Amino acid sequence: MPQMQILCPQCKQPIVAEIRQLFDVGQDPAAKQEILSGLFNIVQCPHCGYQGPYPAPLVYHDPDKELLLVFVPPELGLSQHDQEKFVGPLLQQIMRHLPAEKRKAYLLNPQQVLSLRSLQERILEADGITKEMLEAEERRVKLLQRLLSAPEDALVDILKQEDETVDARFFQAVSQLIDAARTGNDEVSAQRLEKILNLALEHTTAGQEQRAVIQALQDLEKRLAALGPRPDPARLRTTLVDWLAEDPSESRLQALVALAMPLLDYGFYQALSERIEQAPEEQKAALEKARDRLLELSKQVEEAYRQAVQALREAVERLSQAQDVRKAVQEALPWIDQDFLGVLAEELEQAKRSGDEARVQRLQRLWDAVQEALAPPPEVQLLDRLLAARDKAERERLMEQHADLITPDLLQTVTQLVVQAEQGALPPELKSSLQTVYNELTRFSMLRRLKGAAGEDGSKEGQA
Ligand SMILES: [Zn+2]
Repeated sequence: MPQMQILCPQCKQPIVAEIRQLFDVGQDPAAKQEILSGLFNIVQCPHCGYQGPYPAPLVYHDPDKELLLVFVPPELGLSQHDQEKFVGPLLQQIMRHLPAEKRKAYLLNPQQVLSLRSLQERILEADGITKEMLEAEERRVKLLQRLLSAPEDALVDILKQEDETVDARFFQAVSQLIDAARTGNDEVSAQRLEKILNLALEHTTAGQEQRAVIQALQDLEKRLAALGPRPDPARLRTTLVDWLAEDPSESRLQALVALAMPLLDYGFYQALSERIEQAPEEQKAALEKARDRLLELSKQVEEAYRQAVQALREAVERLSQAQDVRKAVQEALPWIDQDFLGVLAEELEQAKRSGDEARVQRLQRLWDAVQEALAPPPEVQLLDRLLAARDKAERERLMEQHADLITPDLLQTVTQLVVQAEQGALPPELKSSLQTVYNELTRFSMLRRLKGAAGEDGSKEGQA
């Protein structure tokens, strides 16, 4: 970032600070998060002690979303001419970094925004997050802050007042916070949040609905379990239809799509329609309504699934085009999961079928990089093989072959595992094989050290 001389926003004396004016996601993916967090261009004045944001004009660019936004803080009072003088060079800089095929019409028409907040909103909007969703999120956060600081006997009243703000997303957020508190060993916060969660389940409209869905889920689980393992498909279908017809409520419909979505096939709907035909006149309308609603809910779930797969396809595409695939994979590792691997495997299969050699190569390169990144380190692989070995002879062979991997660190790891096994944290069948491997590894490394000391084998290991 360039050092610039600026005037302190408070005392107007000259100071030197690092000011960033170009936020190009194409060149720096972290730029987006920086803008969204609002934590950029924070200056500190040595004269008056001011510490806070410096209002610099800035340009935001996201080539994938075709977003080019310009923000000139109104307090700077820049004329149109001065604004252009500032924006021009930044736009040229963006252009220089773009390959010719990505220079599109939107670049000729940068959009002005009037505040930092509307800049952030435009960026989120391009991700499908609307202003209404943001406002709702803000209300939820405020409510949660209020609940966390209020005395315990006021909680129920607050929840009742804010009944409309408590929705499914609220419950999700509180559950996540409870998990986070537990992970951070913050038991006090976890208990307070749990209290809020339980009171909200009991005293709000959305809470009642949530409880009804949980109840329905448990009920459906029990009903399905009663059929035993691998039930006959026709019986499974009848059971589901019976269960719904008993009580065609919203909570049961929700439970069906959550738990039994793959079973809601053509056969199921056929069976449901037959049941509606045979139902007494006074029940028909309610069952028909339930069928329509179920179709609607299924469609929502499918749509969400389709979008998730689409996002993964885009991620596969982006990663496979990275110049340094290994590095790109390392950065993406936190969210690379089974679903990502599934989509990548599918795309690779399809490229092979259509004989697109260049694409096959690109995807194969990505596949290899992911496998490499996900593979456990060689020490762990050796330990796995030692634990799986048939007998002592095989273990000795493995230790000889991979002597260089048997380091004090590895012994330390095995020691910890033995301790964990003794405390009952690992499966008991692992305990005795761990103990055996530990004894043999210690013996092996001791013998090797003795040999090293006797000069038969370089002194490399002796230092370890
Ligand atoms: Zn100052």
